[in-house]
Amino acid sequence: MNPFPHYSSHKEKLKLLSSGSLNLEENVRQFIGRIEQNIHLNCYLQVYKEEAIARAQEISNKITNGTGGKAAGMVVAIKDVLSIKDKVTSSGSKILSGFLPLYTATAVQRLIDEDAIIIGKTNCDEFAMGSSNENSAFGKVLNPVDESCVPGGSSGGSAAAVTAGLCDAALGTDTGGSIRQPAAFCGIFGLKPTYSRVSRYGLTAFASSFDTIGPMTNNLYDLALILELIAGTDERDASSAPLPVPRYSVNLTSEEKLTIAIPREYFTAGLQSEIRDKVEELKSFLSVQGYDVIDVDLPMTEYAIAAYYVLITAEASSNLARYDGARYGFRTATSGNISDMYTQSRTEGLGKEVKRRIVLGTYVLSSGYYDAYYAKAQKIRRLIKEDFDKAFQKADIILTPTTPTTAFKLGEKSDNPLEMYLSDIYTTGANLAGIPGISIPLGKDSRGLPIGIQFLTKQFNEENLLKFSNFVVQNFKS
Ligand code: GLN
Repeated sequence: MNPFPHYSSHKEKLKLLSSGSLNLEENVRQFIGRIEQNIHLNCYLQVYKEEAIARAQEISNKITNGTGGKAAGMVVAIKDVLSIKDKVTSSGSKILSGFLPLYTATAVQRLIDEDAIIIGKTNCDEFAMGSSNENSAFGKVLNPVDESCVPGGSSGGSAAAVTAGLCDAALGTDTGGSIRQPAAFCGIFGLKPTYSRVSRYGLTAFASSFDTIGPMTNNLYDLALILELIAGTDERDASSAPLPVPRYSVNLTSEEKLTIAIPREYFTAGLQSEIRDKVEELKSFLSVQGYDVIDVDLPMTEYAIAAYYVLITAEASSNLARYDGARYGFRTATSGNISDMYTQSRTEGLGKEVKRRIVLGTYVLSSGYYDAYYAKAQKIRRLIKEDFDKAFQKADIILTPTTPTTAFKLGEKSDNPLEMYLSDIYTTGANLAGIPGISIPLGKDSRGLPIGIQFLTKQFNEENLLKFSNFVVQNFKS
């Protein structure tokens, strides 16, 4: 599925560039050509063609002089919820169409500082709310593996762009699964870091106590490298963790035989049998390899989706109050008093799913219902976190499917929000608990659709996830 690029990781790309056997400008032009040929996938909202070519020339010289950064020449796509100074950042919403940010998100800036080439902005569900990328104000994205299927969401444009070879790597965001779920549906790698590992400065806020930024790639080395570059404390985001960042990409191998836990509650009726089988195969393989594979209980799992959708809608209703037609992007043409202008701008500028969540979130925060819904969901969040803490006393890694099914058909769930929400059943736990998670591609189902397997670990233990994933990728024949 991934005939392009021809190198296996950025490490190899850099070698080819340094030796002169790969011409960076040519490489960028090839990406642009492929983007143009695949316009129907609707992965990109903007492509910075001329700038990317100019950057390629500049960075090529740096590589020749030996002054290139760690990501020199890596062609990266950015989910359109991340700001880049003076570049339209729509967040997939009509209400922000034409909005030009005054600054660049820290995660993006750190890649630019290491000489990555930003090729464009990728499509996503409006304000990152969705699991199928059908909620974008700028049209749906198709899954390159099977164009009749969704690519997953909300970072669907990023996932599809990586899968189709329209960039080397992409940044996505994950509030409830939006990196891992599309990575699984498109057959790539996606990593949701520990909450606060990566600065959220310049990220359009959806649910601020859940939102994370992370890499989406077609190989583990690039995943490790990008995380290493974007992570770390940032004076512009007071919630960013003041902890040192390991050089994840330097050593991805580990002989350590960890304890791997399988949560019983994740293997329920809605799980596609081929995904269940894949987990079983992997389980047996790990046992044979000398890993201790145990069962654990995460008893609060059944409340995760409910708690998630109460809390994130509450946070979203507050975060999205700023889009009033006066300060950003779109304003209605209708005349009237200021109150009419607010109402009409929001009515015309926001999509159906976003409105649904604002209404829900406002309701759960309203006096009289606050304790029954919001406060209760906060308590459940705490209990879910405690479930994970207990499991991690016994195990290093929790192994689960990333999603209950492989990619579903376009339109299949768009009229049924509850069903759509259920596709986040295995991913929201990590966001509620603030722990890191990775989705790696392991084989395909009988329809040729990729299967994603998820590994979770303790906060700030991304290194473990990457090393364990590398062992699986290198040794398990899926
Ligand atoms: N699908 C989930 C939702 O709609 C997750 C979104 C996300 O992680 N940004 O809320």
